[in-house]
Amino acid sequence: MRYNRILLKLSGESLMGNQGYGIDPCRLNSYAEQIREAALTGTQIGIVIGGGNIFRGLSGAAKGFDRVKGDQMGMMATVINSLALSSALDAVGQPSKVFTAIPMFPIGYPYSKWEAIKALKEGTVAIMSCGTGSPYFTTDTGSALRAIEIEADVMLKGTRVDGVYSADPEKYPDAVKYDSISYEDVIAKNLKVMDITATALCMENNMPIYVFNMDIEGNLAKMLKGENVGTLVS
Ligand code: UDP
Repeated sequence: MRYNRILLKLSGESLMGNQGYGIDPCRLNSYAEQIREAALTGTQIGIVIGGGNIFRGLSGAAKGFDRVKGDQMGMMATVINSLALSSALDAVGQPSKVFTAIPMFPIGYPYSKWEAIKALKEGTVAIMSCGTGSPYFTTDTGSALRAIEIEADVMLKGTRVDGVYSADPEKYPDAVKYDSISYEDVIAKNLKVMDITATALCMENNMPIYVFNMDIEGNLAKMLKGENVGTLVS
């Protein structure tokens, strides 16, 4: 097996599927099945989900919301998505446990590194919600932090594009895709992999990031088998 323990970051936006808002049950089910397939190979899987399909603090602030309250609303959105994924995992027979960085038992269990690792070792998918638990951060930073804490071998960032490009491939068709790139180049070239805080945290702690398109079914399994389906940042 290529990796023993992974942290998978899913964006809230991709949970929307083709809808403009909320959760697309087909996309959710596709994620659950891919995660189940990966878990069956013995890979330990931690997950962090965003909340952008429901609420983002920054866009809330632009509409006059208090930024901290807006970010708290965003963190609650990640809990909603995490519960949805946990429920979808149940439906495909994959045990999972939702942890929350902000205590709200019994909606989820209070997050601790050791409880999360205990779940992973038992073959349970650990879904770690609320990002970092603090405002002014993103779930990319939350997932970098959790990947480092749970001692994952790699952080997988599932996106809508199949890796890191020299420019936005949706805007510039001649942009080239990198198979691998350094953290330094990502930051220096201002490539939109993750926010700088998240990338810097991974860099300082030698956490490799693998960027790939999670919306293509089968990509997660291919990646775990060692096929080149994305870009490695290290
Ligand atoms: N958020 C936060 N602290 C965190 C993680 C997230 O305050 O550690 C809030 C923030 O308002 C953010 C929202 O939750 O906009 C949803 O997360 P994110 O934008 O990262 O979701 P994604 O873009 O991955 O869907």
